Amino acid sequence: MMADQLRVAGVLEHAAKWHAESEVVSRLPEGGIHRYTYAQAHHRSKRLANALLKLGIKDGDRVGTVAWNTHRHFELYFGVAGIGAVCHTINPRLFPEQLVYIINHAEDRLLFFDITFLPLVERLAPLCPSVEKWVLMTGPKHLPTDSNLPGLCSYEDLLAAESADYEWPVLDENTACSLCYTSGTTDQPKGVLYSHRSTVLHAMAISLPDALSCSALDVVMPVVPMFHVNAWGLPFAAPLNGAKLVLPGAGMDSASLYELAENEGVTFSAGVPTIWLALLQFMREGKHTFSTLRRTVVGGSSCPPALMKAFEEELGVTIMHAWGMTETSPLGTAGHIKAKHQALSPTDNLAVRAKQGRVVFGVDMKIVGDDGQELPHDGVAFGDLLVRGPWVVGDYFRSGKLGELTADGWFRTGDVATIDPDGFMQITDRSKDVIKSGGEWISSIDLENLAIAHPAVAEAAVIGVPSVKWSERPLLVVVRRPGMDVSAQDLLTFFKGKVAKFCEPDAVEFVEQLPHTATGKLLKTQLRKDFAGYSVA
Ligand code: ADP
Repeated sequence: MMADQLRVAGVLEHAAKWHAESEVVSRLPEGGIHRYTYAQAHHRSKRLANALLKLGIKDGDRVGTVAWNTHRHFELYFGVAGIGAVCHTINPRLFPEQLVYIINHAEDRLLFFDITFLPLVERLAPLCPSVEKWVLMTGPKHLPTDSNLPGLCSYEDLLAAESADYEWPVLDENTACSLCYTSGTTDQPKGVLYSHRSTVLHAMAISLPDALSCSALDVVMPVVPMFHVNAWGLPFAAPLNGAKLVLPGAGMDSASLYELAENEGVTFSAGVPTIWLALLQFMREGKHTFSTLRRTVVGGSSCPPALMKAFEEELGVTIMHAWGMTETSPLGTAGHIKAKHQALSPTDNLAVRAKQGRVVFGVDMKIVGDDGQELPHDGVAFGDLLVRGPWVVGDYFRSGKLGELTADGWFRTGDVATIDPDGFMQITDRSKDVIKSGGEWISSIDLENLAIAHPAVAEAAVIGVPSVKWSERPLLVVVRRPGMDVSAQDLLTFFKGKVAKFCEPDAVEFVEQLPHTATGKLLKTQLRKDFAGYSVA
């Protein structure tokens, strides 16, 4: 066989050649909708490549982005990686000190940012000496006149000066193409460096029918940000398959997402549970319906079965539950049934799909006990989840040590899980979130999923609080649905008979809102601080 190298630019080149007319539609942060084709995107990516080379960007240099999902960000994915540099997507929702840490750690030479983030980057710039030039991702008319950002210029000016006369170099497929830092839910952010090979293989794998399933018939709208694990690989999978790509820009509120989905005929979307919880409420309140949306992938944190049921029954949208991490590119597993499950009742079918799912080819997984011994796939035994595969991290960027690998080369995910006889993995908890009560382990996720099924509960989190007798006991923290009333006692009663007695929460607290991470996950480290010193009777 030919020794062709898998390359990220090859994906866009393929789309430009074979799906030249498929569209990329973006809501622009500076206002308005932008629409063009893969052929035009490819053309502009080559102009960007020439601009980067003129600025002296060399193989392996990091080029940072602080940006929403837009066509310009899409061009950066391909233009930067295409020349052999590394596209470092930065999550603007992190704390400023984390952003400074990340930019300095990566030593980004250029930084491309959206207009929304101008005040933010102006604060960061003096603390980020490696950045030689700041590029505002818009046209010249939006350039501020009074900014002291070094080398500030507009993206459109940069491209206007260049031709599209450029051949993508033949890079070794193991060359790095992009860099993403973990959101630091449990630790300091750590860099995960993806390769051309891992990225293309991952894009092919997520396109499979039992993974995220992406075809030329789809209109794909990644709501998951392009600064969060490459929007789960969709900006690569869409051009690879010739699907139309719809990018929501800064319009992440339910009304804007709904409007864009309807106007562009979106069939397939992806995002974290919080996005869909909010959208469900919006759809219910306005009595809206989707005319084209049929499927959405939900991952990043556990998807409550009640949310899956509501989307399917009320909106006709199937939720595909998937699990992954920054360290796994991110797709590890997806919750699709097997042939034997087809005859199941709707309730039992949902129970299978609500698990985090089966591995896709390329990823292998196992669960191990404290002694490192592999545990059985019986759906009951739970242990540390280990994974391996060509798009799983080997070592963190510039960490100087083997990250979380075991001696025999498996990556420790930090998740605790079961695997059932059909291969469906179910996350019980993050190892740091498990509640250890009197020698038993209680899954905070199970309790949160149950709480959210109560009609008056908008969002719920469960944390362990100290108990003299049991060492830890579960505390349920709840945000009530607007206009609905429910007492702590009502909720405690709601759990009776639904979980083992020792798992029932000991107490309920109501809050206006729960703390979230930059990627919309429950920030339990903060919640534990908020309830430090809390004691249950
Ligand atoms: P960070 O580790 O910084 O929070 P990631 O986005 O990489 O950022 O988070 C990965 C973690 O998110 C997983 O280890 C797991 O704990 C959680 N996670 C992802 N998808 C799911 C899911 N479908 N169900 C439960 N937890 C999930």
